Amino acid sequence: MTDSFPQRISFADAGNIIDQVVVAARLETERVPLSRALGRVLSEDLVATLALPSFDNSAMDGYALRSADLVADATTRLQLIGEQFAGISLGLTVADGQCVRITTGAPMPAGADAVAIKEDAALDGEQVLLASAIKAGTHVRRAGEDVRLGESVLQAGQVLSPARLSLSAALGQHDLRVHRRPTVAVFTTGDELVAPGISLAPGQIYDSNRVLLQTLLAADGYEPVAWPVLPDDPARMAAALADAASSFDLVLTCGGVSAGEKDHLPHLLQQQGEVHFWRVRMRPGMPVLFGRWGRAQFLGLPGNPVSVFATYLTLARRLLDGMQGRAEPRPILRARLTAPLRKTHPRLEFLRGLLDCDDQACMQVTANPADGSHRLRAAADSNALIVLPEGAGDWAAGSLVEVLPLARY
Ligand code: AMP
Ligand code: MG
Repeated sequence: MTDSFPQRISFADAGNIIDQVVVAARLETERVPLSRALGRVLSEDLVATLALPSFDNSAMDGYALRSADLVADATTRLQLIGEQFAGISLGLTVADGQCVRITTGAPMPAGADAVAIKEDAALDGEQVLLASAIKAGTHVRRAGEDVRLGESVLQAGQVLSPARLSLSAALGQHDLRVHRRPTVAVFTTGDELVAPGISLAPGQIYDSNRVLLQTLLAADGYEPVAWPVLPDDPARMAAALADAASSFDLVLTCGGVSAGEKDHLPHLLQQQGEVHFWRVRMRPGMPVLFGRWGRAQFLGLPGNPVSVFATYLTLARRLLDGMQGRAEPRPILRARLTAPLRKTHPRLEFLRGLLDCDDQACMQVTANPADGSHRLRAAADSNALIVLPEGAGDWAAGSLVEVLPLARY
């Protein structure tokens, strides 16, 4: 069965192939309101049409004054000539010996160059008493000190975070142009699968990958559509997959990609579409299959649960990110091993592990001793995957290894 397929490729090559394919598969753009843009990928730079702050304003509640009026180590009396609150500019001018009551965010009156905080001032009728000098600029937020007019503050390919959305709002944007989110059809495959809640006949198991994929995708901000379970029947698989491929951007399957008698997907994809790669030098997840079916991207993840984690968190995410034009790499996290590890095979390896902080607040990770990519309990007891690079090796306790969190919380 494997004769007409290329040999296993390296994990790095698999990533490179995905990156090449997505250039032509990038999704179109749309404008979305800021409140619906969290996690979306910006498709054009955002240039500031306002400076931030857009006017000099007070950083504190107090008195706007001329710093030259104050004397070090002596009490100065200033005449209070008015009040300038946030939200309106009264156009007041502070002359020598005068001050204006001001609140945080209110425009600085002309002539004033500093703000004395309320707590450092005493009031005597219409006079303000200040016991010490302050420097020019004290508690004043200067126009443009955060963002200059015309500056490019966000770039195409960046992912919108709450802070970036809030910055966009501060600049007066109501919506932003982003790449469309890929639509994802999820399929689990296998004659042995039964939906949870129904009783099992001998030899059957519950379909646990369906909810795993649904929730991994949902946690990344997608709205996957789970299709009925596919039986290990090539004709029925082909019909359902063709149907999904005609209306979804990505068809994501799990199971049926190994070299067993019932693993039909590699050949089906070869017949009905195009195979970009099948089988990657990673463990678990080796039989992962990537290609195109009609207009859809097709990614076939292996059936074992830990293989689903390893391939979803790396290759599927890379594909989904690329389809949206994400240019910003995902941060790489590293932690120290709490115990030594040995790897005797050359493949990239993903182990389950528990990530936490040591007593110096450094990230550390403890590998779960369970072996075998079917051991779902070990995944449930873990909160990260440990990534051991290609090549056999020994890692001493304290070595830094890459980790992939399994969930955001
Ligand atoms: P396969 O690649 O189809 O041979 O599946 C590999 C292993 O994963 C087998 O033990 C399957 O029973 C198991 N498996 C496949 N799909 C699922 C699923 N949706 N839920 C739970 N286990 C699965
Ligand atoms: Mg199967």
